[in-house]
Amino acid sequence: MAEARPAFARLRSGDEVMFGLYAPGDGCDWELGMRWRDLGASVGPTPRLEVFRDAWEAFEHPVFQRLFEDLRTWRDRFDTSIDSFCELLTEHGFVDDTRPPEADPYIKARDALLQAVVDNGCDDPDDEPCGECWACLADAFLTEAEVRR
Ligand SMILES: [Zn+2]
Repeated sequence: MAEARPAFARLRSGDEVMFGLYAPGDGCDWELGMRWRDLGASVGPTPRLEVFRDAWEAFEHPVFQRLFEDLRTWRDRFDTSIDSFCELLTEHGFVDDTRPPEADPYIKARDALLQAVVDNGCDDPDDEPCGECWACLADAFLTEAEVRR
């Protein structure tokens, strides 16, 4: 069994990074989430650390302890964007396990669907999607679902 190592992954939603101890190809020992919440026009997206009970041992893991120490002064060196957090993780030796879009089954299915819309002749720029064939219906459903995410 591969040994677990500190790693992180940006989620597709674009406002969340999961980081923790992961064994390559064998899931994770535990993980934490940094989520950006929009606190309004004057503050903007702000990171918030979320840690379930099973990951509290992160507080006594040396790699994570050093990271937490750096987080206290993070703002002095970086902005508090998701990019600079990922930079900080990389600096602390975390492996970037972010799945490339082509390996994401959701995106694969999405691309196949968009191709079906084109193949059905429903994607002519001069035409509205027919709204009736299975591809147009599924596309409308997914678009609606994405808006709600
Ligand atoms: Zn159609």
